[in-house]
Amino acid sequence: MADGTSWRATEPATGAVRLGQVTAGRSTLWAQCGCGLQAVLDPGPWLGQGLARHPLPALEDRLRCACGARQAKLEIRGLAEAPAAAGSGIFIFR
Ligand SMILES: [Zn+2]
Repeated sequence: MADGTSWRATEPATGAVRLGQVTAGRSTLWAQCGCGLQAVLDPGPWLGQGLARHPLPALEDRLRCACGARQAKLEIRGLAEAPAAAGSGIFIFR
């Protein structure tokens, strides 16, 4: 847990990443749109809906991008990977 990578060790290589894994260790939830925009998301609203066990791909169409796209690619990254210019513009729609 301390290094923020322990979830990788417990997840089968073939398994989808689940939303709840963002709370394991020091990780952040990222969304990246085809237009190039990317943003850090707060998974709180989804966790509040009990979606922790949902695989990330199942949640991608719940996003909206400033460019009008109705989905964006989701991934979990370690905090160390967060660029200084972490933008906004992608948000949880539902
Ligand atoms: Zn976009």
